[in-house]
Amino acid sequence: MTKYAAAKPAPYWRETVTNPVTAAPLDGDIACDLAIVGGGFSGLWSALKARERMPDARIVVLECGQMGNAASGRNGGFCAPSISHGVSNAVARWPDEAEALVRLGRENLDGLEADLDTYTIDAEFEREGKLNVAATPWQAAGLRDMHAAYARFGIKTELLEGAALDARFDTPRYHAGLFEPNYALVNPAKLVDGLAKTAIARGVQIFEDTKVTGLRNTGGGVRLMTAAGTITAAQAILATNAAVPLLRRLRPSIIPIFDYTLMSEPLTGAQLKAIGWQGRYGIADSGNQFHYFRKTADNRILWGGYDAVYHYGSGRGEELHHRDVTYTRIEANFRDAFPALGDIGFTHRWGGIIDTSARLTAFVGTAMGGRVAYAAGFSGQGVAATRFGALTMLDRLEGKDTERTRLKMLRSSAVPFPPEPLRSFGIKWAQRDLAREDATGHRSLFLKTLDRFNIGFGS
Ligand SMILES: Cc1cc2nc3c(=O)[nH]c(=O)nc-3n(C[C@H](O)[C@H](O)[C@H](O)COP(=O)(O)OP(=O)(O)OC[C@H]3O[C@@H](n4cnc5c(N)ncnc54)[C@H](O)[C@@H]3O)c2cc1C
Repeated sequence: MTKYAAAKPAPYWRETVTNPVTAAPLDGDIACDLAIVGGGFSGLWSALKARERMPDARIVVLECGQMGNAASGRNGGFCAPSISHGVSNAVARWPDEAEALVRLGRENLDGLEADLDTYTIDAEFEREGKLNVAATPWQAAGLRDMHAAYARFGIKTELLEGAALDARFDTPRYHAGLFEPNYALVNPAKLVDGLAKTAIARGVQIFEDTKVTGLRNTGGGVRLMTAAGTITAAQAILATNAAVPLLRRLRPSIIPIFDYTLMSEPLTGAQLKAIGWQGRYGIADSGNQFHYFRKTADNRILWGGYDAVYHYGSGRGEELHHRDVTYTRIEANFRDAFPALGDIGFTHRWGGIIDTSARLTAFVGTAMGGRVAYAAGFSGQGVAATRFGALTMLDRLEGKDTERTRLKMLRSSAVPFPPEPLRSFGIKWAQRDLAREDATGHRSLFLKTLDRFNIGFGS
């Protein structure tokens, strides 16, 4: 008998924010120096970092719903020391600049922590590490490869088995682990709220419930259209993530992948002891279909991932944010991972859309004569990387030549996904083969061919 149905169908995180910031919608025409479309991490970091660079500029954020109502308020809060979707992805897809990518990813996490300090944002940032766990011999071999890849860059990680693993996480489901000490967690809604409140305190204007419906190059600037008025801006940033891109040419570059989460009731000290999860580190398993899980401040378990669901025609409908088949499946996996928790219940359940790109890394570019910058494609690792994306967009708008703007990973055009029905067919095929690889350790010819063309599918 499943228990997820009794959970509230809404993201848990927003309820943890005291006096969440709100903003009125736009009402009439305005002019500004920088218009930012999107009130998630990308848009809000862009606003704050733009303010640091341009103390007197009029900076405006336009958000079609509530700030953080999309991925930035729905994620697991894993804050990676990476801008490349991990070290292995950097090595596989960007071997020439892997060293720089790895270093910049770690510097970005340090910079994020320092910014939270400077702005006195309490986002429950905890750098307590991450434990990767393996359920099969081939996943354990993958962890050994990961350990070697880290070592190549002088990064220490710890391979764990038997009692050493049980001391971190004691469950019959997993047999090997790799502990990464340099990994953080945040409360994503508190991060959104803190960034927004800081931006407003520094004179950034935010408009919620204001959807930008079009964008026009006026020669000397940009015009953004909304139902409530027009914004004339010298420059614009597009930070709309998984939404249909305002720039038509970017539409084939990302696909919306739904990812779902269950939040457990708070665990007692005895329950935590029974599962051997004593520290505050997050955990993720190592399959292609993987779960990520972490504790909240009051010791609930956030249990997300596994199913990565694509809907024909790149469906993004509101009704797709809940999916009984997936909730049933991930509850079963939870019971399997935590037999010691018996039939503990769930308080919240929700889904969210991941802006998946074919290389699982962001791309940053400009349009309209360099007056518009955009960043998208962070896939499932944007909590920290969006800060880096924001800095890169601002560099590009300023026409600066920096280490960030020179990165091939960010500059090169995204690999386009094919149109329907080929898109759906290819994704289904890849998903079937990825599931088979999880079960058997065998990578199919189809997946190997995609690898050869530097194309991936995942979250
Ligand atoms: C379920 C889930 C779990 C995840 N877990 C993790 C994790 O643990 N760690 C990690 O690193 N990453 C994770 N991610 C990914 C991460 O959340 C995102 O990469 C990140 O939040 C992207 O931030 P963003 O600001 O670019 O996008 P968003 O948060 O999606 O913000 C874009 C905003 O733009 C607005 N918008 C769109 N179009 C318009 C328009 N035309 N006009 C006005 N506003 C518009 C949207 O309403 C939205 O608020 C997860 C994502 C999901 C969905």
